Amino acid sequence: MTASPSPSAPLRLLAVHAHPDDESSKGAATMAMYAAAGVDVLVATCTDGSRGDIQNPAMEGQPHPKRDMAGARRLEMDAAANVLGIRQRWLGFVDSGLPEGDPLPALPPGCFALQPLERAAAPLVRLVRDFKPHVILSYDENGGYPHPDHIMAHRVAVEAFAAAGDPARYPDAGEPWEPSKLYYDRAFSPDRFRALHSALEEAGLQSPYAERLAAWLEADAEGHTPPQPTHPTTTQVECGDFFEARDDALRSHRTQVDPEGFFFAVSPAMQRKVWPWEDYSLIESRIPAELPETDLFAGLR
Ligand SMILES: [Zn+2]
Repeated sequence: MTASPSPSAPLRLLAVHAHPDDESSKGAATMAMYAAAGVDVLVATCTDGSRGDIQNPAMEGQPHPKRDMAGARRLEMDAAANVLGIRQRWLGFVDSGLPEGDPLPALPPGCFALQPLERAAAPLVRLVRDFKPHVILSYDENGGYPHPDHIMAHRVAVEAFAAAGDPARYPDAGEPWEPSKLYYDRAFSPDRFRALHSALEEAGLQSPYAERLAAWLEADAEGHTPPQPTHPTTTQVECGDFFEARDDALRSHRTQVDPEGFFFAVSPAMQRKVWPWEDYSLIESRIPAELPETDLFAGLR
């Protein structure tokens, strides 16, 4: 059912994210770049973000997020989508929250991460069949970082990529559509952080990445080194001209992103010089692929 688009038909990109703000920290410049080039870009946000903590000291004590975190985050999401020039849809699940403590508390009843896979994936399968993306972006098996909603977002994206084209699966969720390519983002690629870290040190600036890099590279007391990413970078998308848009989108998530924080440690200009790409791993392709690539739509144009 994979259809090659005619030269005039728009290409479509669907990015599956766990919470409102994840689209701005993972692949945002890529999406803004493709949207500006005429690609139809849609973000599917699995949960409402209702269990997010306030991460920006300037927003502590603000009445709206205090009273209605999900409502505040809907407004933030709209602003971010506007900045990136993309569309966004909510899949309607409730944020599971990040369990903390020892022992870890149980997840709250009814949350996204506790849904059976078929129920969790059904709205995304319906959206894939409706939007007909050529390319789907998702997280790896660890969710990029092990938040239960990120791991579930990974599982539903893989399920939708596999099942949306099969008329026997999810028969009530619309006409089958088979996306061509599935990628995992590598937004937190160690190579990128290493390059940015060296550039900062060479410029005599303080690097906020020292601790993160050390944690990746050093063995613990028992001699175990941390798990290395299991998926290699296959695809580097040059999107440096859209780093400012990415940063503006991040700052739109005012309750979640500290404008003085980690994400803004390196200026867009320096990032353009050192690492003007966003990195991806091609996980599955239903069309012939020649790796490495520089375009998520390679083979589809
Ligand atoms: Zn998240």
